[in-house]
Amino acid sequence: MKKWIREIAVGSGAAVVVLCLLMGVDITSLVFIMSLIGLGLMILSRRLPFGRSFEVVGANNVDSGGIPLVTFDDIGGQDIAKREFQEALTFLRADEKAKMLGIRPIKGVLLSGPPGTGKTLMAKAAANYTGSVFVAASGSQFVQMYAGVGAQRVRQLFKQARNLAEQAGKRSAIIFIDEIDVLGAKRGKNHGHMEYDQTLNELLTQFDGVNSEHHVQVLVVGATNRSDLLDPALLRPGRFDRVVRVDLPDKEGRRKILEIHSKGRPLSSNIDLDMIAQETYGFSGAHLESVLNEAAIHALRADRSVIEPVDMREAIEKVMLGEKLDRSPQPEEKERVAFHEVGHALVSEKVRPGSVASITITSRSNALGYIRQNPLNDQYLYTKDQLVHAIQVCVAGAVSEELILGQRSTGAVGDIEQATDLAKKMVFAGLSPLGIVGKDIPQELLHETVTTIIREQEDVVKEYLAQCKTKLEHLTERLLRNESMDGSEFRSVLTEKAS
Ligand code: ATP
Repeated sequence: MKKWIREIAVGSGAAVVVLCLLMGVDITSLVFIMSLIGLGLMILSRRLPFGRSFEVVGANNVDSGGIPLVTFDDIGGQDIAKREFQEALTFLRADEKAKMLGIRPIKGVLLSGPPGTGKTLMAKAAANYTGSVFVAASGSQFVQMYAGVGAQRVRQLFKQARNLAEQAGKRSAIIFIDEIDVLGAKRGKNHGHMEYDQTLNELLTQFDGVNSEHHVQVLVVGATNRSDLLDPALLRPGRFDRVVRVDLPDKEGRRKILEIHSKGRPLSSNIDLDMIAQETYGFSGAHLESVLNEAAIHALRADRSVIEPVDMREAIEKVMLGEKLDRSPQPEEKERVAFHEVGHALVSEKVRPGSVASITITSRSNALGYIRQNPLNDQYLYTKDQLVHAIQVCVAGAVSEELILGQRSTGAVGDIEQATDLAKKMVFAGLSPLGIVGKDIPQELLHETVTTIIREQEDVVKEYLAQCKTKLEHLTERLLRNESMDGSEFRSVLTEKAS
C-alpha cells in the first residue's frame, strides 16, 4: 500500500476517534470495525504471511538469483550417491524412452546425510543435468503460526515451479526442500499444533498430484540430516521413491574435494593434498572448502602470494578447533600446558609412530593447548589394542603434569571424559575382563571396570614417561620457545636427543 494512502487512513481514523470521544459517543464497536479493516489492509499489503509470495531462488539453470551453475563434476567424492541420483534422473532426461518402457516417473528423491556433505550441490547439479528450472525452499519457511498458511505455501511452491518452467520453456522443474524434517516430521508428534500436520498433508497431496495433470514434470528433492524423523507416508514409493545417502567423504573423496576447491587458489608445490586429505578425517566438503579459504586468508595476512603448508596447517586447526584466542596464561600455567601436551605427543608417537601431526600451546576455543593426530587411514572399527592405546594417549597429559610438577590440574577434564568413553566402549564391545555384557549391566560394576581399565593404562604411561623424562623436558623447553611444532619437527627433535 502506498505510504500516502496509509498516512491519510491513519490520520482520518485518529480524527474520527478524537471526534467521537469529544462528543461522548461509545467507540467500542467502532474500534472493533476499524481493527478488522486494518487487518484486511495488512493482509492485502502482505505484511502477514498469508499473501507473501514464495521466494524463488533461481530458474532456467542460469546464474539467476545468485545460484551458480553447478554440475556433478563440481561435487567431489560421493560417487555412489551421484550414480544413484543420476540413475533416478534418467526419466527426466529421456522422457519419451521412459514412457515407451512404461516407467512411472519418479516423484521424489530424498538426500540424507550429515551437514555440509553436498546435498544442496547435488540438487543444483540435478537441475543442471536434466535442464530443469530450480526452485529452492527450506522446511522452516513453511512453519507458520497461522493455520493453513504452511499448506498454502506448499501449494504456492508447486505452482510457482510449474509457472517458472512454462515461462522458461522447460519441460521439467526441480523443487528442492532443504531441512525437510521440519516440514515432514511424523504426524501427531507436534501436539497442539495441527498446522504442522496440515502442511505435511498438503505436501503429500501435491506429491500425489505431481505430473498427473500438468505437462511440466516436477521432481521434488528433499534434504535432511534426520531421515528418522520423517513421516512414513513421505517415504513410501510414489513420494520419495529413492533415498540417497550423502555421507562424509572418505580419504579419496576428501582429496577430490580439496582439488576442486584448490582451483583458483595458488597452492605452493610443497603442499601435499594427499597428506591433507589424510589429516582431515571426519571433515565434510563444507569443512574442506573452509580449510582452503582460511588458508588463503592466512596467506594474505602474512603477505604471501602463494598458499604455503604453514597456512594449511593453521587453517586445519582453525576449522577443527576454532579461532586463536588472545587469552595468555601465566608462565607457570603455560609450562604446565606444555608438559601436558608433550606428554600426550610422546605417548601418541610411541603407540603409533608418525601419528603426531602438530603440537601447540596456543589457546584456541576451550583448549589452552592441543596435539593433533594424523589418522593413518580412515578407520571404522577399533581393536582392543587400539582402544587401549587411545586411552594411554588420553591420560598421558595428566600423568606428565604429575610426573614433572608433582600434581595434576583441571586441564585433564576433557581427556578423562574421552578415556571414560573409550573404556565404556571396550566394556560394551565385550573387550573388557567382564567379557560380553548387556546394556543393563549394574552402574557400580560398570564404574569399577572403567576405573580399573583407566588406572592400568595410567600405570603403563607413568612408567614410560618416567623412562623418557629427559626427552619430555627437552621437547617442552622447545615447545615453550616456539609455541608450536609440526609432526616432522617433533620427530626430528625426538631423534636428535636420542642419538
Ligand atoms: P546442509 O545439510 O547443512 O544443508 P549440504 O549437505 O546441503 O549441507 P552443501 O550446502 O551442498 O551441503 O555444501 C556446502 C558447501 O560445502 C558447498 O557450497 C561446497 O563449497 C562445499 N561442499 C560440500 N560437499 C562438497 C562436495 N562433495 N564437493 C565439493 N564441495 C562440497
